[in-house]
Amino acid sequence: MIRRIGKILAALALTAASTVIGVTATAGAAHADGCYTWGRTLSEGMSGEDVRQLQIRVSGYPGYGAVLGLDGAYGPATKAAVTRFQQAYGLAADGIAGPNTFNKIYALQDDDCTPINFSYAELNRCNSDWSGGAVSASTAKFNARVTMWKLQAMRHALGDQSIVVTSGFRSYACNSAVGGSSTSRHLYGDAADLAAGPHSLCRLAQQARNHGFNEILGPGYPGHDDHTHVADKSYRTWSAPSCGI
Ligand SMILES: [Zn+2]
Repeated sequence: MIRRIGKILAALALTAASTVIGVTATAGAAHADGCYTWGRTLSEGMSGEDVRQLQIRVSGYPGYGAVLGLDGAYGPATKAAVTRFQQAYGLAADGIAGPNTFNKIYALQDDDCTPINFSYAELNRCNSDWSGGAVSASTAKFNARVTMWKLQAMRHALGDQSIVVTSGFRSYACNSAVGGSSTSRHLYGDAADLAAGPHSLCRLAQQARNHGFNEILGPGYPGHDDHTHVADKSYRTWSAPSCGI
C-alpha cells in the first residue's frame, strides 16, 4: 500500500514536472518506485542507464522474430518497441517514454524489479543463489529477469491469462539431473519451460515469436511434446514441427 502511494506521488511529480516544462519532464525523486524510477522523458537519440532500464521492460515488444538490444541507446528499434508497448496498453503510441509510459511500467513491476506476474522463485527451482551455471550468478539472475519481462508481454498479448513456468535457471548439476542438453540455455538463466494451461503448447510457441525469444522449441521437436521451451540466443533456433514452426 505504501509502495502504491509512493508510485502515485511519483506519478504526480512526473506529471506536474512535464506540465510545467512542456516537453522535457524531470522527476521529483522524493517518492521513488520500489524498483526503479525514471527521472526524465526518454526519446530516440538519447542514451544512458535509464534507457537501458527502459529497454529491459519493453524487451518483450521487439516485433516478430526480432530481439531488442539492451545497449542503453534509444534507436529506432527501441522507439518501435516502446510504441508497441504503448499500443498494447492503450496509451498514446508516439514511441516517446514519458510519465504515462513509466506509470504503466511502475504498475507492472514489483519492488524486486520482476514483472508482477512472474517471480525469481518461479524462474529458479534449482537453487537459491543462481550459482553453478554457465554464467555468473548475477548474470543468470539478470537474464531470468529479462526473460520474465518478455513473458509478461506475451502473457498480456494472450489476454492476461496465466503462463506457468515449470523450469528456468539450472546449475550444471540441476541440468544433468533432468537430462538437459550440455549447452542448454537453462544454464544461462534465460530459458523458460512453459506448461500447457489456458493456452496450448502450440499457441505459446507461436505467440513467443513476437516477444524476443530467439530459441523456441515445442511439440514435434525431440523431447518437447510436454512443454514449450523459450529462451534467448545469439541466433534463431525455432522448431515446433507439430505447430507449424
Ligand atoms: Zn527448456
